[in-house]
Parts: sequence; C-alpha cells; structure tokens
Amino acid sequence: SQSAKQLAEFGKQHISRGISRSTNLVIERAKGSYLYDVQGKKYLDFSSGIGVNIVFHKPMLDLIGKLKPVMPSTQFDSFFFWNSGAEAVEAAIKLARHATKKQNLIVFQGGYHGRTVGTMSLTTSKTIYRGRFGPLMPGVHVAPFPYCFTCPVHRAVPQKHNVINCCDNPIEQVELLLKQQTTPDETAAVIVETILGEGGYVPPPKSFFPKLREICTKNNILLIVDEVQCGFGRTGKMFAIEHFGIMPDILVMAKAIASGFPLSCIVSSKELMDTQPPGRTYSGNAVSCAAAIATLEVFEEEKILENVNNRSSQLFSLLNSRVKSLLPPHIGLDIRGLGLMVGLEFTGVPHGFVAAVAKAGVENHDIILLTTGIYETLRLIPPLTVTADEINDGVERLSQAIDMTLK
Ligand code: PMP
Repeated sequence: SQSAKQLAEFGKQHISRGISRSTNLVIERAKGSYLYDVQGKKYLDFSSGIGVNIVFHKPMLDLIGKLKPVMPSTQFDSFFFWNSGAEAVEAAIKLARHATKKQNLIVFQGGYHGRTVGTMSLTTSKTIYRGRFGPLMPGVHVAPFPYCFTCPVHRAVPQKHNVINCCDNPIEQVELLLKQQTTPDETAAVIVETILGEGGYVPPPKSFFPKLREICTKNNILLIVDEVQCGFGRTGKMFAIEHFGIMPDILVMAKAIASGFPLSCIVSSKELMDTQPPGRTYSGNAVSCAAAIATLEVFEEEKILENVNNRSSQLFSLLNSRVKSLLPPHIGLDIRGLGLMVGLEFTGVPHGFVAAVAKAGVENHDIILLTTGIYETLRLIPPLTVTADEINDGVERLSQAIDMTLK
C-alpha cells in the first residue's frame, strides 16, 4: 500500500488548491480529540473550528484513485468536491472567471443549473426557478439549445432534417452573441448541459458539440459541461459528453456520484484548477466519498454501463412498438434520449396530458413517473440497475397509464 508521503503527494497532484489545507497529513480515522494518520500516528486536533477538511482524508484520495480511470480524458486530473450540484456549478463559474479574468457567461435556453443565486441566474428551463427571486446575477447571455422537435424548420420538413440542418441555428446564435452582446474578451465561459434535463430531455445533434468546442477554443472561452443529471452512467457512457467526441475544459458532476449522499465535484486539468486561491472547508465529506467509492465498485462489479446499454435498447424498442401503437393518428410522439435518460414528447394532446399520465401512473398503476420541460414531455429515468423484467413491466404500466389518460 502507498506510504503516507505518496498519498500526500497524490493529494497535492489531484485535489484542487481551492480546498484549504493547513498541512499535508492524510487522516484515516478519529477518536475524541485525536486524529490518526495513515501510519497510525496520533495528533491532538485543535483546529476543528474551521472545519472538516484542513487535512487530506483517505476516502477522498481513494475516491480520486477510482475516479481518475473513468474520466473521459486524462486531461481531467484535478478534482474539487462539493455537496450539491448547484455548488459545483458555482465552483465552475468561479474557476472560469478567475482563470480567464473575464466575467460574462453564455448559457442555453432550457438549461437548468441549480437554485442558488448564481446558478438560478443561469437557469432558463422554467420561470418558477427564477421568478421573483431576483435580481439575478448579471453578465449571463442566453443562446437557443438545438431542440429539433420544437424547431419550426425541423417541424416543417422533418424528412429533410439532415439536409437543411436547422440545428446549426444555435451555433450561429452563439456567434451572434459574441458579435452583438458579449465580446470574446469579456466572455469567460459557455456553460451547457450535455443533454437538457429539466428543460425537456433533449439530446443535441452530433454536430453541436464539435462546433461549440471550436467556437470556444477560437475565442479563448472555457467550455463547462454540466453533467449533474446526465453524467455517471445515465446515458450508457460514464459521461454523456463521450457520445459527442469532444472534451470540455470543466466537467461538473453530482447526483448519482454517491448514490444519494451529498457529493458533487468539478474536474479539470491541474493547470486550470490551480489558477484559483485556496479557501474551502466543507468539501468532500468523508462518508460521501466512501459512498462514491462504493458506487464506483458497483459500476464495475455489476457491469452497470453494459446494463444501461442493454436495457436502453430494450426500452426504446418497446416504447416504439407498445406506446406508439396506443396513440390515435392525431397524436404525435417523439421518443428521444440516450441510455436510460429517455424523454417522450407528445403533440396534439391537451395541456396537462403528461401530468395526468404521471398521476394515473402512481395512483392506478403503481409506477412513479416524472415530467420535464414546458412541453408535454414525460421523462423516464429508471435506476441504472434496472432489470429486463422491470423494463417490460414499466413499459406495460406506463402504457396502461397513457391508455387510461387518453380515454
Ligand atoms: N445541474 C443539473 C443539470 C441538474 O439537473 C441539477 C439538479 N436537477 C442541478 C444542476 C442542481 O443540482 P442540486 O439540486 O444537487 O443542487
């Protein structure tokens, strides 16, 4: 096993400088007023007031050891832990501003990034998240997200979708923002969900991210990808951005990372991460780190990604056959998503239809369903451990709830 010195060195190498540390001790356990390091050496703790993380702790180092190999690129080698998704997004914004010495941010319409004052200001998925909580943080510019199903060009001639490429419009809008509203030399970062979550479960077309990456690189703007909802295996790859062939500068993760224990994280290159000064206490709770380690062990042992991909194909094919066949011709349905992050958007239904389906689901068919976005969209996010039988059962219950609501 690694020596205390090696562990401390590993910590210095891979943990953000943003986490305050007064020494490089690696603490393994505590009893009373004493802390014990990895060699069993005992220290009397007269520092507890400022808090929890003035030393490295072993679970955080072990977690980093487990996270590093599943990162989408070796460039991601410095980690900064938080408690919630919103805090991690805040950390990403602060890092981007500090590193670039620029202020403004570009976000996407329908994006959801959290409910703190900063992240709420980046959120445009629904007015309920912003309304009457203002004034909001200034310097945020909104570009459209490529939401093909609601795009008038796409709707008019869906069969020509690939030919006319209506989905280039959002990219053009980002370029226009940089010409008309916020110059590249005052724009710190573009922040985007890889797949819109609260905004309707919308995956972008393949071309979107490579083009966005190019604009960011050309203009010296950092690309921040918020994978709080779509990360950690949800889409069948560890991170959703791996479907799109580019890498962001900062990756934000939370939710599934510790299976419900409060833990979130941003990761970037060490070079970028360490541009910021130290100064954090509650960062990477040791119990949450242990839960995250256990979660990653389950990913390996139970071959979670393989399960997500297999169950995903099964789910899509069942939805296409069983659910589509329930609908009368005047009702349209877009079935979209990646892995087990699936949206079902209905057209030609009355307002409130999917809310009624969700209600019928839980009250009459014992299935818990969620809606998303401002259009009539159901979201399906079963556990990543879901079995084949449960997918069959779930689609059956969902179909019954839809059928009941249609009648
Ligand atoms: N970003 C995204 C994409 C999210 O889906 C969420 C939560 N729904 C958040 C950020 C905020 O995370 P939290 O609720 O943990 O603050």
